[in-house]
Amino acid sequence: MTDTGFDVHAERHRLKQLTDDGDMKLFENRDGVECPACGRGFDRLFSTSRESVSFPENDGSRFCLLRTSEAVYLFRH
Ligand SMILES: [Zn+2]
Repeated sequence: MTDTGFDVHAERHRLKQLTDDGDMKLFENRDGVECPACGRGFDRLFSTSRESVSFPENDGSRFCLLRTSEAVYLFRH
């Protein structure tokens, strides 16, 4: 459980894992899981425990960010 109440492990069965690079993971939202930052459904969830990450250009989709004690979560809408 995290400070915000979002628990990726609890939602794990509702997310399809696309990639796993150890400290970076990408999931697809396949069951309408709500973003803990804005309360709306998201398309993809990226999580990492790395200190710094850079992202390639995207199509302008909105992002929400959640920081917990164990990782940073990026929700793409
Ligand atoms: Zn959001």
